[in-house]
Amino acid sequence: MDSVELLRRLVQIPSPNPPGDTRAIADFVAEQMRGIGCEVRRLAPAAKPEALNTIATLGTGEPRIMLHAHIDTVPIAATEAERWSVDPYAAAVRDGALYGKGSIDDKAPLASMMLAMMDAARQDSLQGSLILVAAAEEEVGGQLGTKWLADSGHLPPCDFIVVGEQTGNKVAIAHKGVMRAAVRTTGVSVHATNPDRGVNAIVAMSKVIGALDRYHRELSERVHPVVGSPTCNIGLIEGGSTANAVPDSCAIYLDRRMIPREDPEAVQAELSAVIESVNLAPATVDIGDFVYSPWFDSALDSHYANAFLACAREVIDDDPGPFGYLPGSDAKHLMEVARGDMIIFGPGSYEVAHAADEHVTLADYQATTDILLKFLRRTVY
Ligand SMILES: [Zn+2]
Repeated sequence: MDSVELLRRLVQIPSPNPPGDTRAIADFVAEQMRGIGCEVRRLAPAAKPEALNTIATLGTGEPRIMLHAHIDTVPIAATEAERWSVDPYAAAVRDGALYGKGSIDDKAPLASMMLAMMDAARQDSLQGSLILVAAAEEEVGGQLGTKWLADSGHLPPCDFIVVGEQTGNKVAIAHKGVMRAAVRTTGVSVHATNPDRGVNAIVAMSKVIGALDRYHRELSERVHPVVGSPTCNIGLIEGGSTANAVPDSCAIYLDRRMIPREDPEAVQAELSAVIESVNLAPATVDIGDFVYSPWFDSALDSHYANAFLACAREVIDDDPGPFGYLPGSDAKHLMEVARGDMIIFGPGSYEVAHAADEHVTLADYQATTDILLKFLRRTVY
């Protein structure tokens, strides 16, 4: 099977999430990796047995290098289906590009990593171990995928980790984390003919919104070298029921992006302090429903990272970075597993992912494979 055929086969196995049934694609990866002599484990959490992950290991001992890609894709949205100009699961090749749902996110990085494993299997001088992780559940946050694998001890500490995502074959070393929260104001509802007898929860919330907007602007003073500044966005508001009553409740939903090294507990305390600093009496306010997803960053000071940057520079003939990565990734769940550097790397742009006519150019896909092969040949064979 040549490299294009391998990617076509992966695209032809649908793995939309939801529902997140990755058994067929995990089995395909397992079978291919077993065929080249890897030790293969197929693992799924009891909470979602159809979210099957495959871990394939070649060689033994140290150093350990992990190649990680996710095997689930986003589903095809109803409004998206009619905008596809090709069958999203046919893996059609047209004008030097391979089209299909998941083609770039994340099956091209996965295919390049499988090709790298195949190349390694042909060497008789592999030092240490190469671990391919084909992970489920990334598109819904990775809690039952990579996070579960890491927390259950299925992933050994690794000296270098490549997380496959869309970076234009450049090297990304950080992404932001997210803190979500809900803020609720409570007032007293009365008829609108005499509003002063009531306590308007929407008016109270407007003061909270003002304070959060000032807070967002102050956050621009904190700057991370590759991902920029933290932000605080108010994305949703709900309150009141009719124009002729004073509303007694209002809620807003926040999205606070955290830059690497921001402590989630400190961020929660900071948000609470901003809200408590607003004088709303006699209305009351509370903040809660905190949900957070971690940031990731890497120092990029190991010889693996430097070798990888050098290989990328040689192949793409451009500045390989390091850069920050805008979307999140499973890298955030691998911080404890990474005892050396971790990078995000793969072909194309994430803007092509999650959309109609998702595709990867064969040239970009080839470059991804070339960089991985060059890197392994330079460091572990
Ligand atoms: Zn992805």
